[in-house]
Amino acid sequence: MVRSRDAQSDSKSQYYENLKSQAQQRLEQLRAASPVKEGPSLLQRLEGNGVSRRDFMKWAAAMAAALSLPVTFRREVAQAAELLDRIPVIYLHLAECTGCSESLLRSDSPTLDTLIFDYISLEYHETLMAASGWQSEEILETSMEQHKGNYILMVEGAVPMAAGGTYLTIGPHAHTGEYILRKAADGAAAVIAVGACATYGGIQAARPNPTNARRISRVVNKAVINIAGCPPSEANIIGTILHYVLFGTLPALDSFGRPRWAYNMRVHDMCERRGRFDAGEFVQRFGDDGARRGYCLYRVGCKGPFTFNNCAIERFNQHTSWPIQAGHGCIGCSEPDFWDTMAPYEEPRKNHLYAGVFGGMGADATADKIGIGLLTATAVGIGAHAIYSITQGNFRNPSLDDKKSVVPSQESTDQSTETESQPK
Ligand code: SF4
Ligand code: SF4
Repeated sequence: MVRSRDAQSDSKSQYYENLKSQAQQRLEQLRAASPVKEGPSLLQRLEGNGVSRRDFMKWAAAMAAALSLPVTFRREVAQAAELLDRIPVIYLHLAECTGCSESLLRSDSPTLDTLIFDYISLEYHETLMAASGWQSEEILETSMEQHKGNYILMVEGAVPMAAGGTYLTIGPHAHTGEYILRKAADGAAAVIAVGACATYGGIQAARPNPTNARRISRVVNKAVINIAGCPPSEANIIGTILHYVLFGTLPALDSFGRPRWAYNMRVHDMCERRGRFDAGEFVQRFGDDGARRGYCLYRVGCKGPFTFNNCAIERFNQHTSWPIQAGHGCIGCSEPDFWDTMAPYEEPRKNHLYAGVFGGMGADATADKIGIGLLTATAVGIGAHAIYSITQGNFRNPSLDDKKSVVPSQESTDQSTETESQPK
């Protein structure tokens, strides 16, 4: 038994040693290349914003942990961030609201993640660049040609396909979003979909979807990594790019193309109100006494039990808060077609059968089990603590009506399917 534990530990250390040497080789190659654009180094830029090397290394250690790497990788993560200026990035806006870019870039006191995103060699980003019209089209064409096979393509927004794609035309030649996306994806080393619109079609694809808006993975002919969320957290965006810079591969993905390091746990599993859920303490109406006391938001529609994301850890607004902390339930924005499948947002789920891309396999299958286990009038499918609370008449909420309680079971299996995508 002892020997077998030792053997396991040896093989784990061997695995990480190999991974580290893979990362070091990759970083060496990148270091030998020239920056795509000249300018101050990352550390100079960070210092200019009052960020010390010590803060930067703390961030690198946290990011290594977020990427499920041992903390001994912090040096490699820091070096990868410093070498982000070696890999060109082309960022397209298709049918969307620009909320993802806004969320990433428009903060009055930028986080380390946003400062690092600023440092990336962004060759083309319509919201950020000064050029417009002919000039911007020329920049896009030149960048795609000059960096063919080497650039990361990031896409925000869905692709309208109805009427020959004419619901979205861009630039002086009125090229459709579909045309531009296909062309840009052809020459990309890796394709990253940013936000609910690009990953699953977003609100544009909500029923009845008059423009036949599609997620980008249904349009391009290569692996797409989905950074789901509306908007997604900047740490998930930066972490995914860093993973690519570190290893030259996409991270392991779940069955919906999301990086497992960020989307392998349900919001419910990491929620600060989880103790309230287990104790059977539920907000019944917004503004009631339970709401003031920070009770669980399930009965006012929280979709945390069905949603895979790390919002509870990364948070938003300079990592200060997130919807559940602010008193509104999760709306499930990182799940496929959430506009249709999670609505109505302020009512608890009852029965729910997902129509996932793999026919209910993967992450959705996990969520299905929860949905199917929901309580109706008297059926009970709830965690042990909550059952105890109910049977003891101890289901603490001022306006509670036990007979109508609707709470999910706590079956907890992570059935996300791991796939390793390796772009050229
Ligand atoms: S995912 Fe949400 S925030 Fe991002 S562009 Fe789409 S609607 Fe806007
Ligand atoms: S139901 Fe929502 S508020 Fe309640 S514990 Fe789960 S995630 Fe948190």
